[in-house]
Amino acid sequence: MLHKTIKYCSQCGSTGVKAMVPAGDTHPRPTCQSCGHVVYQNPTIIAGCIIEHQGKFLLGKRAVEPMVGKWSIPAGFMENGETVEQAATREVLEETGAEVEVLGPYSIFSVPHMNQVYIIFRARFIDFIMPFGEETSEIEFVDKSQVPWSELTYPAINQILTRYINEDGHGQFGLYMGCFEQGLVHPFVTVNQRN
Ligand SMILES: [Zn+2]
Repeated sequence: MLHKTIKYCSQCGSTGVKAMVPAGDTHPRPTCQSCGHVVYQNPTIIAGCIIEHQGKFLLGKRAVEPMVGKWSIPAGFMENGETVEQAATREVLEETGAEVEVLGPYSIFSVPHMNQVYIIFRARFIDFIMPFGEETSEIEFVDKSQVPWSELTYPAINQILTRYINEDGHGQFGLYMGCFEQGLVHPFVTVNQRN
């Protein structure tokens, strides 16, 4: 269980914030010793897409930290008030300028040491409808022979794209879930077949 360090209570300004288990709760939470304010911290969701177009898929080069200069599929933090599909397509639009249609979920994986959950969809490219944003320096549709494997942001992205390319060759896509801390992002496999 990780908490961001909280020095000051956001309600009363006190410096007396300590981890305590609130009455009836199960987890320690940063709790103000002066006014009793409890801070609830929960994982953030990162949504993104593998964007398919004519046998290729879209990668973006990051213009900002972390991983500036590295390539990835477009993905970013879900905002309040949107669905996870909306988050994924919004991030795609912001980072690449592309309008896409979500085809289905492809990968769900947890990164517990970062308190993050990634939800990655397959999506169909429709069109570029605006310039890409400041988080991106370059975008490119690549086929399986053009992936900059040594310049991808994270091992998880390598794994997702490796599996995607293999499945694309067979014309059947599974749904995966896994855990970054177990070394493999996708230990569990489901394909669309009856048991
Ligand atoms: Zn307080």
